[in-house]
Amino acid sequence: MAEAAERAVEAGLAGLLVTPSADLVYLAGYDPPPLERLTCLVLRAGSDPVLVVPELEKLRAQGSPGGRLVELAGWRDGEDPHELVRRMLTNGASYGITDTAPAVHALALREGPGARFELVPASRAGLALRVTKDAEEIELLSRAAAGADRAFERIAETTFTGRTEAQIAATLGGLLREEGHDSVAFTIVGSGSNAASPHHEPGGRVVGPGDPVVLDFGGRVGGYCSDISRTVCVGAPPPRFHEVYEVVRRAQELAFRTIRPGVPAEDVDRAARGAIEAAGLGERFVHRTGHGIGLEEHEPPYIVAGNREPLGPGMCFSVEPGVYLEGEFGVRIEDIVVVTEDGARRLNEAPRDLHTVA
Ligand code: ZN
Ligand code: ZN
Ligand code: ZN
Repeated sequence: MAEAAERAVEAGLAGLLVTPSADLVYLAGYDPPPLERLTCLVLRAGSDPVLVVPELEKLRAQGSPGGRLVELAGWRDGEDPHELVRRMLTNGASYGITDTAPAVHALALREGPGARFELVPASRAGLALRVTKDAEEIELLSRAAAGADRAFERIAETTFTGRTEAQIAATLGGLLREEGHDSVAFTIVGSGSNAASPHHEPGGRVVGPGDPVVLDFGGRVGGYCSDISRTVCVGAPPPRFHEVYEVVRRAQELAFRTIRPGVPAEDVDRAARGAIEAAGLGERFVHRTGHGIGLEEHEPPYIVAGNREPLGPGMCFSVEPGVYLEGEFGVRIEDIVVVTEDGARRLNEAPRDLHTVA
């Protein structure tokens, strides 16, 4: 919390207002349910952190890992919690606020009588607090990735033919839990032409011979996320599939080899995109190359054109190029990687060779 307040000052802010989110979990270890009542951690340089909480949540906040490190300021129903926060802020100053803070609270803070301070979304102020992972976080991400790898290896040994996408997705979710996940976040199973839709919702389509199947799934281990994609094929693939698969695999490998400290994030995207464009499929790679991962499935750094932020050791993100041919099939290969002192290391090690399923 002290470091976050310092970083806010370096970003030209007088402090940070953190509402329930992954940032609040990260900073104070507090994870309250999203409520209409205001909960807000107020961090100011030179002052102790204050956690503004509804009175009825006070004991819960006190018992959380960071409960003893903050001063708790309770408020009761009928009182104005926004006024309570405003009294801690200095007019004329700017404060960072959690990107996902409910508008109802952010606006109420700003609109109060005499409020003459600015609120800036934390990400716009360049405050990606969780972007560099420490050893403990990398360990949890590694465990999550290893569990996802084993779930893939096990699902790849099952029979796909004759089962619906939804049934395969349900099996996959069970395997993730068996392989050490505390919860399952998503299980995308896109077969045949459905594989051309990157975020396809698994449904009633029955998988059959000749179907490519994109599997993209993840969950949480100790709060930290997994996210892996592999594309398999039921028996012999359709025309062009092998060629497209090799293009994506090569793009993924080239992107991975681009990663090292100091390289702008967008260079990793450019490496993957270049390989796919060279094969004449650039138009069919319809999304960015990757996203950071940690307490959230998607968080900075984003591996996307225009992101000049240099990569640094401890950053964790996905490398997931894909090619999507509408009406035919899609291919995506995704690993989570961690930036090391001199390059990068993959946390996912499930085979990337084309796997044929029954
Ligand atoms: Zn996605
Ligand atoms: Zn994914
Ligand atoms: Zn992903």
